[in-house]
Amino acid sequence: MIMRIFCSLLVSFFAAAVFASSPEIVDYTSQIKFGHQVKLSRTVDVIVIHSTYCTEGDPYNVEHAIAVFRQYKVASHYMIDRQGTVYRLVEEKDIAYQAGRSVLPQNGRKMLNRTSIGIELLNSPTDPPTELQYKSLVDLVKDIKTRYPINYIVGHNNIAPDRKTDPWLFDWPKFNGMMHEMDQNASMAVIKN
Ligand SMILES: [Zn+2]
Repeated sequence: MIMRIFCSLLVSFFAAAVFASSPEIVDYTSQIKFGHQVKLSRTVDVIVIHSTYCTEGDPYNVEHAIAVFRQYKVASHYMIDRQGTVYRLVEEKDIAYQAGRSVLPQNGRKMLNRTSIGIELLNSPTDPPTELQYKSLVDLVKDIKTRYPINYIVGHNNIAPDRKTDPWLFDWPKFNGMMHEMDQNASMAVIKN
């Protein structure tokens, strides 16, 4: 019995690790004709985390948020709604206009749109990201890491401190803890098997 419980634990750890790297994604790329530059491929090693919300109507309506992006001719690669659903707006190989004028504090690199993938969380300066958003974000970041050697995960405010304050109310220790937790589960499944 103990062995059976142990095995089912292993299976659930393994399943968590597998599903963690395969988030369900709603593909909106065919509707987004603005805010990005199409490329055949590019070098990516940065993930930029943002927050956004709509000041009129439902603050967290995805279609509305995209309409505002269209107006300003900007876009991010991904948007995560309050329920944790992930929407792909721009292909990862394409340059999305999400970072703007920016500098990576670690090494002074500029024009970070070229080398980054942008992820928008739908939340406001008074409304922190939901648990479901953190979970999906961690899944998505881990998924991206299987395709690109990510060296830097930064907030928009880290790379444009004079202009930007997002991601708002973002709990970095919580996010880093969740990233680490899932790493441990993944390696545990591999070692025990
Ligand atoms: Zn931003």
